[in-house]
Amino acid sequence: MADFDLVVKNGMVVDGTRAPRFRSDIGIKNGRIAKIGRISAHQGAKVVDAGGQIVAPGFIDLHTHYDAQIFWDPYLTISGYHGVTSVVLGNCGFGFAPVRPKDAERAMLTMVRTEAIPLRAMQAGQKYTRRFADAVGDYRALL
Ligand SMILES: [Zn+2]
Repeated sequence: MADFDLVVKNGMVVDGTRAPRFRSDIGIKNGRIAKIGRISAHQGAKVVDAGGQIVAPGFIDLHTHYDAQIFWDPYLTISGYHGVTSVVLGNCGFGFAPVRPKDAERAMLTMVRTEAIPLRAMQAGQKYTRRFADAVGDYRALL
């Protein structure tokens, strides 16, 4: 039986601690990093050669505009393509929630100007922005 579910071999590890990058193998067991160091390929049930690649734990994007997109793309696919593993949403002053219904059009027009998002696309997605607003509630009342 293999020691690890997955062994990532020969990657250039950037661990996010500000330590200089280093070449290493990584052993993963039960979804967690179990070892960083020299690991033989035969120790892994699956082995991936990461030679010439950066191996990093992932990135946190603290400023996104996924307020509506998360309802039709729950994996926020485009961020994953770029190595982002965690996102924060709903914290932008240009976000759509919370917004009073009478101010929704103004909020969308702001996004037309600042983000070049077509107004018609946002109008079509209003049901999603309403779902986001309902999900977060009116947190202004708590301030
Ligand atoms: Zn923003």
